[in-house]
Amino acid sequence: MPDDTDRMNELLERQRRAFLKDGPPGLKKRLDLLDRLENAVRSRQDDFCKAISADFSVRSEHETVVAEIFLVIEAIRQARAKVGKWMRPARRCTSMAFFPGKSMVMYQPLGCVGIISPWNYPVQLALSPMVGALAAGNRVMLKPSELTPATSDLLATVLGEAFAAEEVAVLTGGAEIGRAFSSLPFDHLFFTGSPNVGSLVMQAAAKNLVPVTLELGGKSPALVLPGFDMDRAALSIATGKLFNAGQTCIAPDYAMVPAGSVASFVESMKSQVASMYPSLAGNPDYTAIINDAHRERINRLVDDAAAKGARVVRLNPAEENLAGSGKIAPTIVLDVDDDMPLMREEIFGPVLPVMEYDTLDEAISYVQRHPRPLALYCFGNDNAPIDRILNLTVSGGVTVNDTLLHVAQESLPFGGVGNSGMGTYHGEDGFRTFSHAKSVFFQRRLNGMSLIRPPYGHRFNRLMRFLIDRKVGKD
Ligand code: NAD
Repeated sequence: MPDDTDRMNELLERQRRAFLKDGPPGLKKRLDLLDRLENAVRSRQDDFCKAISADFSVRSEHETVVAEIFLVIEAIRQARAKVGKWMRPARRCTSMAFFPGKSMVMYQPLGCVGIISPWNYPVQLALSPMVGALAAGNRVMLKPSELTPATSDLLATVLGEAFAAEEVAVLTGGAEIGRAFSSLPFDHLFFTGSPNVGSLVMQAAAKNLVPVTLELGGKSPALVLPGFDMDRAALSIATGKLFNAGQTCIAPDYAMVPAGSVASFVESMKSQVASMYPSLAGNPDYTAIINDAHRERINRLVDDAAAKGARVVRLNPAEENLAGSGKIAPTIVLDVDDDMPLMREEIFGPVLPVMEYDTLDEAISYVQRHPRPLALYCFGNDNAPIDRILNLTVSGGVTVNDTLLHVAQESLPFGGVGNSGMGTYHGEDGFRTFSHAKSVFFQRRLNGMSLIRPPYGHRFNRLMRFLIDRKVGKD
């Protein structure tokens, strides 16, 4: 696609020239950019809800309001309140050897940032990183997902009205456009999507030494400890699993419950699902799967597990026929093992494998032996086992005694680790991701450098002996 690449390169050049001409924006300009973004989202809230519903065929409008609109507005609100503080240069201590010099870090905008976003939360995952990038004073080019065309077109229109193309530009299109986009020489590339595509994006960025943030997915466990109220655990896990019909990067992927409690967990799940979703087919609260290919993929995972001996329990409270609804009923899968793709691939749908464990160490060891997840959930009454899980497992984030909610804390860094990604954003962490932390040392006229310049001799040796032998912790 040479034409597309040329067009993108030209846009990037325009942004870069404008960035260099205008210089790093001051606080007033950054607040103006954030205000314009907020107005754009607020004034077109209903249009965004409609576009997302059209893309999903059915997407709970309430979930759109909380997960797309509210979270973005909240991110903008916090950035606006704090960006003045985040921008301030920070004094750092100066080593005794270099007194009376002065050290500080200044946070500079990187320049032009690329953002590639996925379809599952098509507004939030495009605009939340943009909040951090604009607060940090950057220009932004966005490549939203082709699987949500109505929302991506609306993003292009709305952002085109709110910003000049030199400030924020949107490029719509599929994988081809994504490939060309990720090969541009941005100052930073921020990608949210699957680990497979994330690897391709990182390889393309590496050619230009473009630093990347990768927000990927994976299999996030939900671990219920002995003695925890099963109804409460099931309610939280069902909520986290069925929000957006499981098409959430941090949805609990599978559950681990103490040996002997599978039956009570399944019963609790049945009643919690029935109270949240008395019906499924025509229920506007229960979201459809994004497209046929994804629905078939999820069904294949379940069918394959069943063929290999797993037990499949459909939670379909009104016993409806879901054919033609675009939806998959909440499903529990028991007696699973690691030979099943269901236990190796991210499910990204309303299907919950449930495993039993005998000891906490066995459950922890299972998590440790698998790729590091984006999220982990644990449910327990006592601090000691929860601390043990927190210390011994490595995941992007954790919510204790509930699901999903760590992502909504704008003050917490959000990101994966290992297979689930690298780098973080949200709040101050987003600002830092999109800033260059530049070290600055101020030398004084009177200083000790004459002691450590050639010709080296006695005074140099005495000074070095003193500096090397002196007790630490004095700076
Ligand atoms: P995806 O990786 O298929 O696509 C993401 C984006 O990359 C899209 O805009 C797509 O057009 C683009 N793309 C596709 N091929 C490309 C290529 N070769 N080069 C550059 N860009 C390319 O992901 P998806 O199906 O849209 O989203 C689902 C995945 O995203 C799941 O794995 C989920 O866990 C993950 N996810 C992660 C987070 C997070 O915050 N960590 C959030 C949401 C989704």
